[in-house]
Amino acid sequence: MLTKFLDFFGWARANSPWMVHYCSGCCSLEILALMGPRFDWERYGFMPVPSPRQADFIVITGLVSRKVLPVLLMTYDQMPKPRYVFAIGSCAFDGGPYYDSTSVVTNIPEILPPDVFVAGCPPTPEAILEGLLEMKKIIREKREAKAEKEGTWREILKQELEKNPLLAKQPFFVGG
Ligand code: SF4
Repeated sequence: MLTKFLDFFGWARANSPWMVHYCSGCCSLEILALMGPRFDWERYGFMPVPSPRQADFIVITGLVSRKVLPVLLMTYDQMPKPRYVFAIGSCAFDGGPYYDSTSVVTNIPEILPPDVFVAGCPPTPEAILEGLLEMKKIIREKREAKAEKEGTWREILKQELEKNPLLAKQPFFVGG
């Protein structure tokens, strides 16, 4: 009986994934396009939420600056398990057009490995939607999130918290 209940909750979760509403770069404009009437992503059950505490996955929308990185990692750390990472845009892969900037993080996959990555600068809404459907599949199959077994995000977050203990006191309710 309990297994059937858990199966039901797993099914419901996979069919209505919530994403923490976190926008770091200009790829986020394509996410806005997905919300509009043309693509209407809510018909697939996707829903942005303003708190990491209820989110199934986090979206890295392209560029991540060095200043924003600790907040991104702290937000991910506050999500319940299993917590997945969805990344879009070449900036989230290797810095993209900002590959030689000293203020941009150019190795996000090494720090917080995405479970789904959609390439492009920016990727089209159609490509992002494909990636989101893949994310639904990953949630349905209850695969282990890549960032739980790989990535240096825990060490980096620890160092950041040692440098700035106030970071841990921030209520990171993001988006709006
Ligand atoms: S990949 Fe292109 S569109 Fe996306 S954040 Fe980087 S510069 Fe902006």
